[in-house]
Amino acid sequence: MRIDSKHVWEHISAYIDGEVDTELRAEIDMHLETCEICSAVLDSTRNVVVLMADDRVFEVPAGFSERLHARLDRELELSGT
Ligand SMILES: [Zn+2]
Repeated sequence: MRIDSKHVWEHISAYIDGEVDTELRAEIDMHLETCEICSAVLDSTRNVVVLMADDRVFEVPAGFSERLHARLDRELELSGT
């Protein structure tokens, strides 16, 4: 099974939380090694998670993930894949 970028984004928060099964985790790891866009998504998502875990109150803006995905869709189109 080969997963695409959109599939990775669907699982990215579960991946960070360690809630994906071993097989899916391996697929995502493999994809991240070869995909700069998804690596960037993982980094930015991880930063948000770290901020949320911080003592300071941090709220993810409403529609954050929708906007993120919209931006990624556009970047994906621009990259011509
Ligand atoms: Zn990707």
